[in-house]
Amino acid sequence: MTDLVYHDEFVEHVMSPGHPENPDRLRSAMKSFTTAGLLESLQVNLLTPQKASLDKIYPIHDETYLEGIREKSEKGGGFYTMDTAVNAHTYDAALLAAGGGIEAVDRIMHSDSNNAFVLCRPPGHHAEYKRAFGFCFINNIAVAAEHLLNEYNMQRIMIVDYDAHHGNGTQSTFYSSNNVLYMGLHQDGRSLFPGSGFPDEIGEGVGKGYTVNLAMYPGAGDVSYELVFDGVLDPLFESYKPEFILVSVGYDGHFKDPLTSLGLTTSGFAMMNSRLNQLAKSYTDGKITCFLEGGYNLEVMGMCSLNLLQELSGLEVSVFDDSHTESETCTQYTEELIERVVQDSPLF
Ligand SMILES: [Zn+2]
Repeated sequence: MTDLVYHDEFVEHVMSPGHPENPDRLRSAMKSFTTAGLLESLQVNLLTPQKASLDKIYPIHDETYLEGIREKSEKGGGFYTMDTAVNAHTYDAALLAAGGGIEAVDRIMHSDSNNAFVLCRPPGHHAEYKRAFGFCFINNIAVAAEHLLNEYNMQRIMIVDYDAHHGNGTQSTFYSSNNVLYMGLHQDGRSLFPGSGFPDEIGEGVGKGYTVNLAMYPGAGDVSYELVFDGVLDPLFESYKPEFILVSVGYDGHFKDPLTSLGLTTSGFAMMNSRLNQLAKSYTDGKITCFLEGGYNLEVMGMCSLNLLQELSGLEVSVFDDSHTESETCTQYTEELIERVVQDSPLF
Protein backbone atom coordinates (compact mmCIF):
# COMPACT_ATOMS: atom_id res chain seq x y z
CA MET A 1 0.00 0.00 0.00
CA THR A 2 1.15 3.53 -0.78
CA ASP A 3 0.49 6.41 1.61
CA LEU A 4 -0.52 9.66 -0.03
CA VAL A 5 0.20 12.28 2.62
CA TYR A 6 -2.01 15.33 2.29
CA HIS A 7 -3.58 17.92 4.59
CA ASP A 8 -6.09 20.69 3.78
CA GLU A 9 -3.83 23.15 5.59
CA PHE A 10 -1.26 22.68 2.77
CA VAL A 11 -3.48 24.75 0.46
CA GLU A 12 -4.13 27.48 3.05
CA HIS A 13 -0.50 28.59 2.96
CA VAL A 14 -0.30 31.38 0.34
CA MET A 15 2.73 33.63 -0.20
CA SER A 16 1.43 36.40 -2.46
CA PRO A 17 -1.14 36.81 -5.25
CA GLY A 18 0.07 35.31 -8.53
CA HIS A 19 3.02 33.51 -6.89
CA PRO A 20 4.11 30.43 -8.88
CA GLU A 21 4.33 28.31 -5.70
CA ASN A 22 0.59 28.43 -5.02
CA PRO A 23 -2.16 26.11 -3.72
CA ASP A 24 -3.41 25.30 -7.24
CA ARG A 25 -0.34 23.08 -7.65
CA LEU A 26 -1.69 20.63 -5.07
CA ARG A 27 -5.27 21.04 -6.28
CA SER A 28 -4.15 20.01 -9.75
CA ALA A 29 -2.41 16.90 -8.38
CA MET A 30 -5.40 15.91 -6.22
CA LYS A 31 -7.76 16.44 -9.15
CA SER A 32 -5.68 14.11 -11.33
CA PHE A 33 -5.89 11.41 -8.63
CA THR A 34 -9.66 11.82 -8.29
CA THR A 35 -10.24 11.72 -12.05
CA ALA A 36 -8.18 8.54 -12.36
CA GLY A 37 -10.02 6.95 -9.40
CA LEU A 38 -6.80 6.54 -7.41
CA LEU A 39 -8.27 7.72 -4.13
CA GLU A 40 -10.75 4.82 -4.22
CA SER A 41 -7.99 2.33 -5.01
CA LEU A 42 -7.16 -0.14 -2.27
CA GLN A 43 -3.50 0.41 -3.18
CA VAL A 44 -3.62 4.05 -2.05
CA ASN A 45 -4.14 5.26 1.51
CA LEU A 46 -4.91 8.94 1.99
CA LEU A 47 -3.03 9.88 5.16
CA THR A 48 -3.84 13.07 7.09
CA PRO A 49 -0.67 13.91 9.03
CA GLN A 50 -0.10 15.37 12.50
CA LYS A 51 2.26 18.28 13.14
CA ALA A 52 5.88 17.34 13.76
CA SER A 53 6.99 17.90 17.34
CA LEU A 54 9.60 20.64 17.60
CA ASP A 55 12.31 18.32 18.95
CA LYS A 56 12.20 16.55 15.56
CA ILE A 57 12.89 19.86 13.79
CA TYR A 58 15.61 21.25 16.09
CA PRO A 59 18.46 19.13 14.72
CA ILE A 60 17.73 20.62 11.27
CA HIS A 61 16.67 24.20 12.12
CA ASP A 62 17.56 26.86 14.67
CA GLU A 63 15.04 27.29 17.50
CA THR A 64 14.92 31.10 17.26
CA TYR A 65 14.43 30.90 13.49
CA LEU A 66 11.43 28.55 13.96
CA GLU A 67 10.02 30.81 16.67
CA GLY A 68 10.26 33.66 14.14
CA ILE A 69 8.12 31.79 11.62
CA ARG A 70 5.56 31.07 14.35
CA GLU A 71 5.43 34.75 15.37
CA LYS A 72 5.10 35.96 11.78
CA SER A 73 2.28 33.47 11.16
CA GLU A 74 0.51 34.47 14.38
CA LYS A 75 0.61 38.10 13.32
CA GLY A 76 -1.02 37.13 10.03
CA GLY A 77 2.03 37.18 7.76
CA GLY A 78 5.38 38.68 6.79
CA PHE A 79 8.24 38.45 4.34
CA TYR A 80 11.60 36.64 4.48
CA THR A 81 12.80 37.45 0.98
CA MET A 82 11.07 39.12 -1.97
CA ASP A 83 9.59 35.78 -3.04
CA THR A 84 9.35 33.85 0.21
CA ALA A 85 6.61 34.97 2.58
CA VAL A 86 4.44 33.71 5.42
CA ASN A 87 0.69 33.94 6.00
CA ALA A 88 -1.39 32.91 9.02
CA HIS A 89 -1.28 29.23 8.01
CA THR A 90 2.39 28.85 7.04
CA TYR A 91 3.78 27.75 10.41
CA ASP A 92 1.13 25.04 10.88
CA ALA A 93 1.37 23.89 7.24
CA ALA A 94 5.17 23.61 7.50
CA LEU A 95 4.93 21.55 10.72
CA LEU A 96 2.27 19.32 9.12
CA ALA A 97 4.44 18.78 6.03
CA ALA A 98 7.45 17.80 8.19
CA GLY A 99 5.20 15.66 10.40
CA GLY A 100 3.79 13.97 7.31
CA GLY A 101 7.27 12.92 6.24
CA ILE A 102 8.03 11.48 9.67
CA GLU A 103 4.73 9.59 9.79
CA ALA A 104 5.26 8.29 6.26
CA VAL A 105 8.70 6.80 7.00
CA ASP A 106 7.52 5.44 10.37
CA ARG A 107 4.67 3.58 8.69
CA ILE A 108 7.04 2.11 6.11
CA MET A 109 9.44 1.02 8.87
CA HIS A 110 6.55 -0.64 10.72
CA SER A 111 5.35 -2.33 7.50
CA ASP A 112 2.02 -0.49 7.65
CA SER A 113 2.71 0.76 4.11
CA ASN A 114 5.21 0.00 1.33
CA ASN A 115 6.14 3.52 0.29
CA ALA A 116 4.79 7.07 0.29
CA PHE A 117 4.27 10.31 -1.60
CA VAL A 118 4.21 13.39 0.64
CA LEU A 119 2.17 15.86 -1.41
CA CYS A 120 2.98 18.89 0.69
CA ARG A 121 3.33 22.64 0.73
CA PRO A 122 5.41 24.51 1.69
CA PRO A 123 8.27 22.62 0.03
CA GLY A 124 11.57 22.23 1.90
CA HIS A 125 14.80 21.60 0.02
CA HIS A 126 16.04 25.22 -0.10
CA ALA A 127 15.45 25.89 3.63
CA GLU A 128 18.75 26.29 5.49
CA TYR A 129 19.48 25.92 9.24
CA LYS A 130 18.31 29.44 10.09
CA ARG A 131 17.06 30.75 6.79
CA ALA A 132 13.78 30.56 4.87
CA PHE A 133 14.72 30.55 1.19
CA GLY A 134 13.31 29.75 -2.25
CA PHE A 135 9.67 29.23 -1.10
CA CYS A 136 10.87 26.86 1.69
CA PHE A 137 10.71 27.11 5.51
CA ILE A 138 11.30 23.68 7.06
CA ASN A 139 13.41 21.12 5.22
CA ASN A 140 10.95 18.22 5.24
CA ILE A 141 13.21 15.64 3.62
CA ALA A 142 16.13 16.48 5.94
CA VAL A 143 13.85 16.13 8.97
CA ALA A 144 12.75 12.68 7.76
CA ALA A 145 16.35 11.58 7.09
CA GLU A 146 17.48 12.73 10.53
CA HIS A 147 14.53 10.89 12.09
CA LEU A 148 15.50 7.65 10.29
CA LEU A 149 19.11 7.97 11.50
CA ASN A 150 18.15 8.61 15.11
CA GLU A 151 15.06 6.46 15.52
CA TYR A 152 16.12 3.38 13.58
CA ASN A 153 19.91 3.56 13.86
CA MET A 154 20.25 3.69 10.11
CA GLN A 155 23.69 4.34 8.63
CA ARG A 156 23.02 4.91 4.94
CA ILE A 157 20.18 7.07 3.68
CA MET A 158 20.17 8.00 0.00
CA ILE A 159 18.53 11.31 -0.93
CA VAL A 160 17.94 11.80 -4.64
CA ASP A 161 16.81 15.32 -5.51
CA TYR A 162 15.62 15.65 -9.11
CA ASP A 163 13.91 19.01 -8.71
CA ALA A 164 15.23 21.43 -11.36
CA HIS A 165 16.76 23.62 -8.64
CA HIS A 166 19.69 22.52 -6.50
CA GLY A 167 18.61 21.36 -3.01
CA ASN A 168 21.09 23.63 -1.22
CA GLY A 169 19.45 23.23 2.20
CA THR A 170 19.47 19.43 2.10
CA GLN A 171 23.05 19.39 0.82
CA SER A 172 24.37 21.67 3.56
CA THR A 173 22.51 19.76 6.31
CA PHE A 174 24.41 16.56 5.53
CA TYR A 175 27.56 17.98 3.90
CA SER A 176 29.89 16.51 6.56
CA SER A 177 28.06 13.21 6.96
CA ASN A 178 28.51 9.84 5.30
CA ASN A 179 25.24 8.59 6.81
CA VAL A 180 23.26 10.53 4.24
CA LEU A 181 24.29 10.59 0.59
CA TYR A 182 22.83 13.63 -1.19
CA MET A 183 22.56 13.28 -4.96
CA GLY A 184 21.40 16.43 -6.74
CA LEU A 185 20.24 16.34 -10.33
CA HIS A 186 19.39 19.89 -11.35
CA GLN A 187 19.89 22.67 -13.86
CA ASP A 188 23.40 24.19 -13.75
CA GLY A 189 23.59 26.88 -11.06
CA ARG A 190 25.20 29.34 -13.50
CA SER A 191 21.80 29.63 -15.19
CA LEU A 192 19.33 29.03 -12.34
CA PHE A 193 18.50 29.78 -8.70
CA PRO A 194 19.99 29.10 -6.14
CA GLY A 195 23.32 29.21 -8.01
CA SER A 196 24.92 26.24 -6.26
CA GLY A 197 25.26 22.47 -6.73
CA PHE A 198 28.39 22.29 -8.89
CA PRO A 199 30.26 19.01 -9.49
CA ASP A 200 33.14 20.10 -7.24
CA GLU A 201 30.79 20.29 -4.24
CA ILE A 202 31.37 16.73 -3.00
CA GLY A 203 31.12 17.00 0.79
CA GLU A 204 33.77 17.49 3.49
CA GLY A 205 35.43 15.55 6.30
CA VAL A 206 33.95 12.05 6.61
CA GLY A 207 31.24 13.30 4.25
CA LYS A 208 33.70 13.76 1.39
CA GLY A 209 32.31 11.91 -1.61
CA TYR A 210 28.84 11.63 -0.09
CA THR A 211 27.51 14.67 -1.91
CA VAL A 212 27.14 14.20 -5.67
CA ASN A 213 26.02 17.02 -7.94
CA LEU A 214 24.97 16.69 -11.56
CA ALA A 215 24.63 20.24 -12.85
CA MET A 216 22.67 19.70 -16.06
CA TYR A 217 23.05 21.86 -19.14
CA PRO A 218 19.94 23.97 -19.91
CA GLY A 219 17.83 22.00 -22.38
CA ALA A 220 18.86 18.59 -21.03
CA GLY A 221 15.96 16.17 -21.22
CA ASP A 222 14.95 12.50 -21.18
CA VAL A 223 18.09 11.24 -22.99
CA SER A 224 20.49 13.03 -20.64
CA TYR A 225 18.61 11.98 -17.52
CA GLU A 226 18.60 8.35 -18.60
CA LEU A 227 22.38 8.57 -19.14
CA VAL A 228 22.74 9.88 -15.58
CA PHE A 229 20.76 6.95 -14.20
CA ASP A 230 22.93 4.49 -16.15
CA GLY A 231 26.25 6.19 -15.47
CA VAL A 232 25.85 7.63 -11.98
CA LEU A 233 22.80 6.47 -10.04
CA ASP A 234 23.06 2.75 -10.70
CA PRO A 235 26.75 2.49 -9.71
CA LEU A 236 26.20 4.85 -6.76
CA PHE A 237 23.45 2.61 -5.36
CA GLU A 238 25.63 -0.44 -5.93
CA SER A 239 28.49 1.18 -4.04
CA TYR A 240 26.54 2.82 -1.17
CA LYS A 241 23.85 0.18 -0.67
CA PRO A 242 21.34 2.49 1.00
CA GLU A 243 18.89 1.32 3.67
CA PHE A 244 16.23 3.88 2.80
CA ILE A 245 15.60 6.12 -0.24
CA LEU A 246 14.18 9.62 0.05
CA VAL A 247 13.39 11.56 -3.11
CA SER A 248 12.86 15.30 -3.55
CA VAL A 249 10.55 15.33 -6.55
CA GLY A 250 10.07 18.51 -8.53
CA TYR A 251 8.33 18.71 -11.88
CA ASP A 252 9.99 21.99 -12.80
CA GLY A 253 12.45 20.13 -15.05
CA HIS A 254 9.61 19.68 -17.54
CA PHE A 255 10.10 21.56 -20.81
CA LYS A 256 6.82 23.45 -20.22
CA ASP A 257 7.82 24.74 -16.79
CA PRO A 258 7.77 28.55 -16.64
CA LEU A 259 10.71 28.91 -14.21
CA THR A 260 13.45 26.71 -15.67
CA SER A 261 15.11 25.72 -18.96
CA LEU A 262 15.35 21.94 -18.75
CA GLY A 263 13.79 19.62 -21.35
CA LEU A 264 12.19 16.64 -19.56
CA THR A 265 8.81 15.22 -20.64
CA THR A 266 6.22 13.38 -18.53
CA SER A 267 7.72 10.12 -19.86
CA GLY A 268 11.13 11.25 -18.63
CA PHE A 269 9.72 11.75 -15.14
CA ALA A 270 7.92 8.40 -15.32
CA MET A 271 11.25 6.78 -16.32
CA MET A 272 13.01 8.32 -13.29
CA ASN A 273 10.23 7.27 -10.90
CA SER A 274 10.20 3.75 -12.27
CA ARG A 275 13.98 3.40 -12.02
CA LEU A 276 14.04 4.80 -8.47
CA ASN A 277 11.27 2.40 -7.48
CA GLN A 278 13.23 -0.48 -9.03
CA LEU A 279 16.37 0.59 -7.15
CA ALA A 280 14.29 0.66 -3.96
CA LYS A 281 13.11 -2.89 -4.63
CA SER A 282 16.72 -4.00 -5.24
CA TYR A 283 18.40 -2.28 -2.30
CA THR A 284 15.92 -1.19 0.38
CA ASP A 285 13.17 -3.79 0.24
CA GLY A 286 11.06 -1.15 -1.53
CA LYS A 287 11.48 1.53 1.14
CA ILE A 288 11.10 4.85 -0.67
CA THR A 289 9.40 8.11 0.26
CA CYS A 290 8.93 10.99 -2.18
CA PHE A 291 8.53 14.60 -1.10
CA LEU A 292 7.06 17.25 -3.37
CA GLU A 293 9.32 20.25 -3.92
CA GLY A 294 8.71 22.35 -7.08
CA GLY A 295 6.84 22.22 -10.39
CA TYR A 296 5.00 25.30 -11.65
CA ASN A 297 3.05 24.27 -14.74
CA LEU A 298 -0.31 23.14 -13.35
CA GLU A 299 -1.08 20.66 -16.11
CA VAL A 300 2.35 19.05 -15.68
CA MET A 301 1.83 18.97 -11.90
CA GLY A 302 -1.30 16.87 -12.44
CA MET A 303 0.19 14.45 -14.97
CA CYS A 304 3.50 13.88 -13.18
CA SER A 305 1.93 13.51 -9.73
CA LEU A 306 -0.48 10.95 -11.17
CA ASN A 307 2.40 9.04 -12.76
CA LEU A 308 4.34 8.99 -9.50
CA LEU A 309 1.42 7.75 -7.41
CA GLN A 310 0.63 5.08 -10.02
CA GLU A 311 4.25 3.94 -10.04
CA LEU A 312 4.55 3.75 -6.25
CA SER A 313 1.24 1.93 -5.79
CA GLY A 314 1.98 -0.59 -8.55
CA LEU A 315 -0.88 0.57 -10.78
CA GLU A 316 -0.54 0.98 -14.52
CA VAL A 317 1.25 4.24 -15.33
CA SER A 318 -0.68 6.56 -17.70
CA VAL A 319 1.23 7.65 -20.79
CA PHE A 320 0.96 11.27 -21.94
CA ASP A 321 2.04 12.25 -25.41
CA ASP A 322 4.12 15.35 -24.81
CA SER A 323 7.44 15.16 -26.59
CA HIS A 324 10.62 17.18 -26.60
CA THR A 325 13.98 16.50 -28.18
CA GLU A 326 17.22 17.66 -26.60
CA SER A 327 20.12 18.92 -28.69
CA GLU A 328 23.22 16.84 -29.35
CA THR A 329 25.24 19.50 -27.54
CA CYS A 330 23.19 18.78 -24.39
CA THR A 331 23.74 15.05 -24.64
CA GLN A 332 27.46 15.55 -25.24
CA TYR A 333 27.76 17.91 -22.27
CA THR A 334 25.95 15.37 -20.06
CA GLU A 335 28.32 12.58 -21.13
CA GLU A 336 31.33 14.75 -20.20
CA LEU A 337 29.69 15.75 -16.92
CA ILE A 338 29.09 12.12 -15.96
CA GLU A 339 32.71 11.27 -16.69
CA ARG A 340 33.89 14.12 -14.50
CA VAL A 341 31.55 13.31 -11.59
CA VAL A 342 32.54 9.65 -11.63
CA GLN A 343 36.25 10.58 -11.68
CA ASP A 344 35.90 12.98 -8.74
CA SER A 345 33.95 10.64 -6.46
CA PRO A 346 35.66 8.06 -4.25
CA LEU A 347 32.46 5.99 -4.35
CA PHE A 348 32.88 4.78 -7.91
ZN1 LIG B 1 12.52 23.62 -8.10
